[in-house]
Amino acid sequence: MSNFLEHLKQVIPEENIRLNEPMKNHTTFRIGGNADFFVSVNREQLPQILTVAKQDEVPVTIIGNGSNLLVKDGGIRGLVVEIGKDMEDIQLHENCITASAGALLSKIARAAADAGLSGLEFASGIPGSLGGAVVMNAGAYGGEMKQVLVSARVLDKNGEERILSNEDLDLSYRHSCIEEKGYIVVEATIRLTPKEKEQIFAEMEDIRKRRLEKQPLEFPSAGSTFKRPEGYFAGKLIQDSGLSGASVGGAQVSEKHNGFVINKGNATAQDVLTLIENVKKEVYRQFQVELVPEVKIVGE
Ligand SMILES: Cc1cc2nc3c(=O)[nH]c(=O)nc-3n(C[C@H](O)[C@H](O)[C@H](O)COP(=O)(O)OP(=O)(O)OC[C@H]3O[C@@H](n4cnc5c(N)ncnc54)[C@H](O)[C@@H]3O)c2cc1C
Repeated sequence: MSNFLEHLKQVIPEENIRLNEPMKNHTTFRIGGNADFFVSVNREQLPQILTVAKQDEVPVTIIGNGSNLLVKDGGIRGLVVEIGKDMEDIQLHENCITASAGALLSKIARAAADAGLSGLEFASGIPGSLGGAVVMNAGAYGGEMKQVLVSARVLDKNGEERILSNEDLDLSYRHSCIEEKGYIVVEATIRLTPKEKEQIFAEMEDIRKRRLEKQPLEFPSAGSTFKRPEGYFAGKLIQDSGLSGASVGGAQVSEKHNGFVINKGNATAQDVLTLIENVKKEVYRQFQVELVPEVKIVGE
């Protein structure tokens, strides 16, 4: 590992390499143990860093804005690569937007609205990066990335760039092929439709109000903890199981939105995991429905 640090320094300035970095500083849950190595990269550094990690056999974990992540208390061994603030350029061309994977969805939605382009209103309040949104096929209020994505530029396991079309991405409910193929999203193109700016902003404002009213945005969380089981709503099942407000340590099933587990203060990942298990068991016992976490659980 000490060699790895020396090798890393050859491709990224030393001051940008953090050792034993608390992952709670990089997740919206505000939970997570330390990453051995942590870097936030730009487009040129990314392939070089992957090559170094591969040569030194250091495992790599990619994160975007950390808004769908539960990092375990033991932290993450190896290198965490954040695709964020150093990869966030947004370009408009005709009715399309091409943006780097680290650009926040909220910023892209705003840029679209400013240009009188409709289609991303649904995404304006999703606190993720474009890369994370492609991986998750993020969606809300009747919209999802699948409806607007033209293509994504990815790096494959050999560090080669590929362009995947919407079909290639194999997008379905909170799923794409990115994770199983081990790809890294570096850029994506979205196609939108011209519309009156006022209408776009009004729609975004309506969604913002609905989120504020329904979601416990005053507490750290990773959004909906569970995927929507077919034919049901996770929040409703949890409520009907009598679990609203149920808690373990600092983790609680939000009383405002039963589909969210929130960090009420100093929750550990273990608190959240135990609560998730309790909820899964009780919902299954009462309704024979298997809840599957939407949140990605990483680390050890
Ligand atoms: C308050 C709140 C509300 C939310 N509301 C919604 C909602 O309405 N709809 C919805 O769909 N989600 C919602 N989410 C969840 C989350 O914002 C989305 O899943 C988002 O798309 C995750 O993006 P991210 O950049 O934060 O990804 P991260 O959480 O950092 O990562 C998620 C997964 O993607 C991978 N990944 C991230 N970037 C890349 C990349 N560039 N290349 C390869 N892999 C990558 C990571 O390894 C991880 O497996 C909400 C979350 C919060 C906290």
